[in-house]
Amino acid sequence: ITRVGVFTSGGDAPGMNAAIRAVVRTALYNGKKVTGIYHGYQGMIDSTMFDMDSRSVSSIIQKGGTVLKTARCMEFKTVEGRAKAYENVRAAGIDALVAIGGDGTFTGAEIFSREFDIPVMCIPGTIDNDLNGTDLTIGYDTANNTVIDAIDKIRDTAASHNRLFFVEVMGRDSGCIALNAGVAGGAEAILLPEKETAIDELIEMLEHAADRKKSSMIVIVAEGDKNGGANNVAKRVNEKFDYYDTKVSILGHLQRGGAPSSADRVLATRMGYSAVNELLKGNTRATIGIRGSEMVTTPLEEALSKKELKLNQDLVEIAKIMAL
Ligand code: ADP
Repeated sequence: ITRVGVFTSGGDAPGMNAAIRAVVRTALYNGKKVTGIYHGYQGMIDSTMFDMDSRSVSSIIQKGGTVLKTARCMEFKTVEGRAKAYENVRAAGIDALVAIGGDGTFTGAEIFSREFDIPVMCIPGTIDNDLNGTDLTIGYDTANNTVIDAIDKIRDTAASHNRLFFVEVMGRDSGCIALNAGVAGGAEAILLPEKETAIDELIEMLEHAADRKKSSMIVIVAEGDKNGGANNVAKRVNEKFDYYDTKVSILGHLQRGGAPSSADRVLATRMGYSAVNELLKGNTRATIGIRGSEMVTTPLEEALSKKELKLNQDLVEIAKIMAL
């Protein structure tokens, strides 16, 4: 390996910059050259690349988003698109890749690496914490902190008016943010994609809470919850339960932004460092992960095929008891 290409792709997540910085500095430390690729796979096809040195990543560890930008690139899903990408990658002298992103990014990396026999290492970056081969993804901790900050603020106004709030949080098909932020924010109920809650069951919980004279109630609704989002849940609950003045708050994209937390910066730095070292050891077509406090790798084929249940089952039970 003489030159490592690094890019971010798919959904952005806070901490991606810290990962880019770690990849660049670890590669340079090992005497390798680095090319930054803008806009993910689109940048390979358009050849928007630049030579990176240690100063290219100065003062980015604390920034949200990604300085390399990101994109969803349909052309890369075609054989012709990938052939064009490979031509440009080769012309730039890149002989190994580090891809930072989610499921889609990993799928593209796996196919590209097999097709053109180029070493690739992936780093899991998404606030959703829904990737296999790792306990935690980059951005998840920051998103949790952002959500509890919002819940705390909503709680102030909810308590002042004796209101019932339905707060919808991100996570796609994963309830990780909903559960963690729900517990940390003291939610009265949490609706998760992994565990269906019937509206009647939710109403029972809310009636119970109302009987205990709670001055405010917050229900966290994961965006992937099967009841169809916070607006729907609020409407259906209201049809049968009108004790409280009801409001809905959909947190949306603010959950994707912000300065990365300390935990995300350290995780991203460790992952970036490991990704380069694994490539240098000859490992390829794998994703970096963390298990407990250990860095691990999992073949992409395995990470993309089986589904891990990330939700902590104990925490689901604890959340119910804490809502009493
Ligand atoms: P994420 O990485 O966050 O899951 P996407 O699903 O949008 O985001 O994937 C990012 C990019 O990866 C896509 O825009 C596309 O360029 C590439 N990609 C996804 N799936 C494939 C595939 N099956 N073949 C080739 N490239 C893919």
